[in-house]
Amino acid sequence: MNTSVVLFTADLRVSDHPPLRAALHGGRAVVPLFVRDPAVAGAGFAAANRLTFLGDCLRDLDASLRARGGRLVVRSGDPVEQVCRVAAEAEADEVHMAADVSAYAQRRERRLRRALEAEGVRLHVHDTVTGAVAPGALTPAASDHFAVFTPYFRRWSQQRLREPLGAPGAVRVPDAVRSEDPAAREDVTGVSPGLARGGETEGRTRFTAWLRGGLGAYQDRHDDLAGDATSRLSPHLHFGTLSAVELVHRARGAGGAGAEAFVRQLAWRDFHRQVLAARPAAAGADYRSRRDRWRPEREAGDDFEAWREGRTGYPVVDAAMRQLRHEGWMHNRGRLLTASFLTKTLYVDWRLGARYFLELLVDGDVANNQLNWQWVAGTGTDTRPNRVLNPLAQARRFDPDGAYVRHWVPELAAVAGAAVHEPWKLPAGERAALDYPGPIVSLPDALARFRRARGLD
Ligand code: FAD
Repeated sequence: MNTSVVLFTADLRVSDHPPLRAALHGGRAVVPLFVRDPAVAGAGFAAANRLTFLGDCLRDLDASLRARGGRLVVRSGDPVEQVCRVAAEAEADEVHMAADVSAYAQRRERRLRRALEAEGVRLHVHDTVTGAVAPGALTPAASDHFAVFTPYFRRWSQQRLREPLGAPGAVRVPDAVRSEDPAAREDVTGVSPGLARGGETEGRTRFTAWLRGGLGAYQDRHDDLAGDATSRLSPHLHFGTLSAVELVHRARGAGGAGAEAFVRQLAWRDFHRQVLAARPAAAGADYRSRRDRWRPEREAGDDFEAWREGRTGYPVVDAAMRQLRHEGWMHNRGRLLTASFLTKTLYVDWRLGARYFLELLVDGDVANNQLNWQWVAGTGTDTRPNRVLNPLAQARRFDPDGAYVRHWVPELAAVAGAAVHEPWKLPAGERAALDYPGPIVSLPDALARFRRARGLD
């Protein structure tokens, strides 16, 4: 019997899945395999929220495969060893998997290729599975990647995407290959109470509902903090329960300014992925050094703690940090202003903020998280690296009547209207009644510190 192995990684779906479709060619049997990799967990990626979401994804994938006559095989250990072992057990002569961008993923692919070649097994790596346009598919004249989004996006928009594939009708899995159980949701502790549910079924339901009810107004409303009018598809894109190629096609099919704005965000995702694929070290090192000498821990420790806890005294910053803790997700505008507050107002190293985000974010992603942090810190691809977001101006603009703040900072729930953004201006009696701290830093002083540090004054 001809058998293929499909190694699932960040592509936990059956729809629009090129490796699975290719593996099934000619009526072959398939081992759909997911390997729990302790190295990923050890590198700080075993965040409770993502593990929980992953568990949902694996169970849903298993159910989808069972509905087609197959099942998911789950193993634990080094993925290279496990794939080789499973291939031997199933007498498979080929392995299919998706290409991915991090240093870790690139190394895994190289190791796997070598190990499988030694066993006489072919490895097929498919691109446009975890992203819409593959890293390296578009390059400027004199470099291996685009460092600026606008020209990248121009080229990206002209790129013809492959057509999305339907889910396979039947999947035949050899009986002899044993599997572990995908972990139950309740096995994980420290999960955010408002965490979203994972899995392809959930992702498709959410996307379809959002296409009908959210996409049209996306362009006008995506920055409205209280409006919560973005797709919330990021964890599904991170785990690959939805395909970026399919999302672009379906959004374009719906048409309109909302769809264009949404597709542009998906291009941002590909943009960061092509930067990371070409410069894997940017996950931890400045993409463009600004010679920052970030405040040392002993000086900035209390400020960092206040930022993490959502007790900086700047209500919009605190609201966003509390949303992150409660949901394992934060609105993009919140991510921008909290990251700017940490790196530029408090002048704390972006790596500390990025690490904290990765501890909590259900969509926590090396490319998107690290490179967005660098973008905000001005060490990445932003063409205006020294811009500083003023938290009060941001609050007035993106939470004009204070509804977002009142929702996430209950200590301020009784303060009406936009006054909630500046509780220190309330009459003394009213202010004293609030269990809410004063600002940990003066904005003009902070701005002056940042400008000095960057040699701008
Ligand atoms: P929508 O507005 O509905 O956008 C649709 C999709 O486009 C998103 O799901 C996402 O996949 C992609 N997208 C949107 N904005 C961006 C962006 N700026 N960069 C890259 N892709 C984008 N996104 C992550 O997926 N994982 C992260 O770990 C992450 N960390 C971030 C850290 C910081 C400091 C900042 C400023 C942004 C970060 N982002 C991250 C990007 C963005 O904030 C989220 O993708 C977005 O908020 C997810 O919500 P949504 O799905 O409703 O987005």
